[in-house]
Amino acid sequence: MKRTRQAHRTRLTREAEQLVRLATGLANSGSRTEDRFWEQRLAAQVEKMLKAGNEDAVGAAQEHLYSANMRACDELADALEAYCEGARISTAEGEFEVLLIAVPVLAWSRFVVPTGTVPSAALNDLRVHLQAHVLAAGTRLGLADSLFSIDQLPRGFCPTLALARDLWAVAAAGKNLRIDPRQMPETANFIADSRYLLGAVAAPPGGPHFRWQESDATRESVDAQWRAQGGQALPAALPACAFELLLPDAFFTACRNADRELRPYSLRAGAAFLQTSCNLEASALKVVLAPFQEHDLMEFRVSFAIDESGEVAHGVVWPLLEGETDAAAAAAEIEAVLREAGVGEILTLEQTFPFEYCDDCGAPLFPNATGEAVHVEAPEDGAGGSGHLH
Ligand SMILES: [Zn+2]
Repeated sequence: MKRTRQAHRTRLTREAEQLVRLATGLANSGSRTEDRFWEQRLAAQVEKMLKAGNEDAVGAAQEHLYSANMRACDELADALEAYCEGARISTAEGEFEVLLIAVPVLAWSRFVVPTGTVPSAALNDLRVHLQAHVLAAGTRLGLADSLFSIDQLPRGFCPTLALARDLWAVAAAGKNLRIDPRQMPETANFIADSRYLLGAVAAPPGGPHFRWQESDATRESVDAQWRAQGGQALPAALPACAFELLLPDAFFTACRNADRELRPYSLRAGAAFLQTSCNLEASALKVVLAPFQEHDLMEFRVSFAIDESGEVAHGVVWPLLEGETDAAAAAAEIEAVLREAGVGEILTLEQTFPFEYCDDCGAPLFPNATGEAVHVEAPEDGAGGSGHLH
């Protein structure tokens, strides 16, 4: 997930300075032996600060390292994520190594891609398929009974840790965690979006969590099995949606993977949406794409038109993610996805636009063929579009 960067310099507290020092020591370490020295101290400092709910100081340390030392910034992120994701816990039934996981799904709908409580029969089916195809033998699974959108996932390390602790506890007992849907924030409605089932896996200390850690499986074989079998339970949780399952993994890795995979999926879904709602062939679609930039953030905005009017019927945002800086490579990737989807015309504008949004509704503006940033005008018979009446 993208970290939001503050434009101003935050003054570091003593605790944040300590994080910076330890992460920098680890980044510069010359041996595994020295690594362990720094890792232990960094983990202890992370634990102390997250237990105290000191999110702001952690964020300030990350912000500082982002411009001062990228490798140290990555080491700090690894230490923070590791502490929020995994732990060793003791229960009446013994010791477990617990790991927070996410099960990402990409979905699109002419109506609404749902969030919230998953029907209990569907949740139980998902549990059975996860244990049969994705998790290692002898593990226990705790599942939250909700589908989360990206803006319903816990924001920040301390809230992630709080949810992880609840899931670790139910994982050791092999139970589900009830999430009160009234506690979940409202989510923006997109035609195509990602959804997440969250859970935790409890394994005996030193044992594998995932099926691909066992000697007779690979990530590829698990991925294929999961895509083939895991989807059987989903139509009940995602009515009126087309969907694609991604490989479940540790929480942060799975979320990053979903961010990346959602981009081409949204382009394919956009083309499919216009084809079904306007009764067109993909070859009738005309696409314009251009880079939009603000400070160090860049995204491509991709416009779909269905006729010669120049009106934008649908728009998809393709953000450049953490570590991506090559705009030409992103444009080439977008063009390749669109060509594969059978889109008739693709125009890539040379100019870079500033981030522009509608003053009335806040929707992003999209480039048209004459090089202006304009509002999306959803086709009249297209359900799912919000319409543009202002
Ligand atoms: Zn508007």
